[in-house]
Amino acid sequence: MRKNILGIKNLSKTYYTKDREILSLNNISLDIPENSITSIVGPSGCGKSTLLNIIGGLDKDYSGSVMFDNNRNKIGYMFQTDALFPWLSILDNCLIGLRVQKRVTEDDISYVKRLLDDYGLHDFIYSYPNNLSGGMRQRVALIRTLAVKPDILLLDEPFSALDYNTKLKVSEDIYRIIKKERKTTIIVTHDVGEAIAMSDNVVVLSSRPAIIKNIYNIDMDGDGPTKRRTSNKFNDYYKVIWENIDNYE
Ligand code: ADP
Ligand code: MG
Repeated sequence: MRKNILGIKNLSKTYYTKDREILSLNNISLDIPENSITSIVGPSGCGKSTLLNIIGGLDKDYSGSVMFDNNRNKIGYMFQTDALFPWLSILDNCLIGLRVQKRVTEDDISYVKRLLDDYGLHDFIYSYPNNLSGGMRQRVALIRTLAVKPDILLLDEPFSALDYNTKLKVSEDIYRIIKKERKTTIIVTHDVGEAIAMSDNVVVLSSRPAIIKNIYNIDMDGDGPTKRRTSNKFNDYYKVIWENIDNYE
């Protein structure tokens, strides 16, 4: 049994607008095991980003509890668009989070360089973002997120801005990096295939207000996304999970 790094209990969230209240999350309870990849899927507008923002501490206006094991609550947040600064080199883009927080140590710089070396960006350390492909930029964005040594990584629709082929390649790369660096990761996606390809557990949320409909343990250990996608088990999971999602009538 893996230890849990995060426990969410009875989490509910209401947005208050000028003329109405919108219940977005309805009594969500969820444990996140250490070193696991969890995907959160559900229809558009159900509350996936809301849940991620609460976990990430960006939104503190909720009821219920969000508890990290031993205060291991340092968050690495990666958004849909890579948001690299075009006027900074790849190395400086990766160091920006550290620069904002504190001075950057020699150790930090060698850690980031090691990540860039290991993940195929050695020759681009002093290049600028517009010289890189979409896939490479996404890897840089992940390395920037890893640079602060987060306890938990949060990825909100990380591949949805990429074309299909790039997305397959990048999801393989990102999977390898997350597993090798042993990072607990939560991925929000509306893409069931991507969730099954990447994750240890897939959490299905209902349409708004979101409740947890089901949690599927994906028993395809050790295989990366590319290998998973060609297996019969993948199709079986796909069918079951797809049918569990509240799709439009
Ligand atoms: P998802 O990421 O699953 O597409 P969100 O978490 O972004 O959905 O939003 C869930 C619901 O909460 C949406 O349907 C929307 O109506 C509502 N919502 C999100 N953000 C706000 C906000 N800032 N103010 C009011 N309502 C919001
Ligand atoms: Mg969203």
